[in-house]
Amino acid sequence: MRALRLLEWKSGPELVEVPDPSPGPGQVVIKIAGAGACHSDLHLMRDFEGGLLPWGPPFTLGHENTGWVHELGDGVRGLSTGQPVAVYGAWGCGTCIRCRLGVDSYCEDPAGAPVPSGGCGLGLDGGMADFMLVPDARHLVPLPEGLDPVAAAPLTDAGLTPYHAIRRSREKLTPGSTAVVIGVGGLGHLAVQILKATTAARIVAVDSRPEALRLAETSGAELALSPGDEAAERIRAATGGRGADVVLDFVGADATLALSAGVVRSAGDLTLVGIAGGTLPFSFFALPYEVSVQTTYWGSRPELTEVLDLAARGLLTTACTTFPLAEAVEAYRRLEAGTLLGRAVITP
Ligand code: NAD
Ligand code: ZN
Repeated sequence: MRALRLLEWKSGPELVEVPDPSPGPGQVVIKIAGAGACHSDLHLMRDFEGGLLPWGPPFTLGHENTGWVHELGDGVRGLSTGQPVAVYGAWGCGTCIRCRLGVDSYCEDPAGAPVPSGGCGLGLDGGMADFMLVPDARHLVPLPEGLDPVAAAPLTDAGLTPYHAIRRSREKLTPGSTAVVIGVGGLGHLAVQILKATTAARIVAVDSRPEALRLAETSGAELALSPGDEAAERIRAATGGRGADVVLDFVGADATLALSAGVVRSAGDLTLVGIAGGTLPFSFFALPYEVSVQTTYWGSRPELTEVLDLAARGLLTTACTTFPLAEAVEAYRRLEAGTLLGRAVITP
């Protein structure tokens, strides 16, 4: 079969022929429907090198995947061939308390996982291929009826990650509160929709691209701003001078973190999701009183079922552009150039 593989750090991916996977006991091979192209993959190609992560190339890219059950290994029950499924992509040890709760993303026995702190497309072979081996059937979530398997692929990360981040702050997202979403790309446009569907907060979006701001508005943002000197003032004005209760930074550069710090309200949450590598000065007077600064990583398996449910009920719609596997490199090129809206989904 064909697979788009990262062969070494600091390199572009290559489309190569690899043997078809075959499932061992408890494992499943799926035929890929869609594999989302995440900005994190660009960080993998450009920003990381040996020793930074506990795993490394070679592996097949693609950590947001859907497909159809193709072949079941011995002992797998509850799934049938041809059934559409989403893949929960963080693959932990399966036995620590976090994994038992469905939070493999924070597995506490990384040495017991297939690779430490990894998953499909992250140290292990992902879904930018004709087929993918899922090493444990528990990672498959049946797709609810009515969901298009291709458009559903980004829900497993671009949907799940903001859903998890927003749930962490749900106590603060009361009616009358304000949430700011910085970066309205793959994750950000779904973050706006998740805020709209699950909270009564006023939603403000910030992005440097006008077309992303239009997507933010159609996704549910009341105010869409380009970053710059006036963004902080306008957010303050829109909140009666108080600032935003929750700021979700889906970029994570110095400039977006500075904007986040400049608009967050006292006792608010400043949540960093983007991994552009920026930093934020932290000391007693650096932020308004009692601001919580937090990072989040991916989400849990129960949360994925909730995201899929929202989408099946029409409350989340992924804006996506599809590319055949042979053009996956072009999808990443456009993601990097900023000429994509929402998510690129690779369909073998
Ligand atoms: P994307 O490229 O689809 O979207 C990024 C958006 O941010 C674009 O619309 C772009 O125009 C905008 N942007 C870039 N710089 C900006 C700036 N300085 N000010 C305002 N807007 C700006 O990316 P994505 O796939 O949505 O990923 C977003 C980030 O989240 C990436 O850093 C990615 O690696 C990270 N990520 C983190 C997790 C996690 O679990 N923490 C999971 C997935 C992705
Ligand atoms: Zn991702």
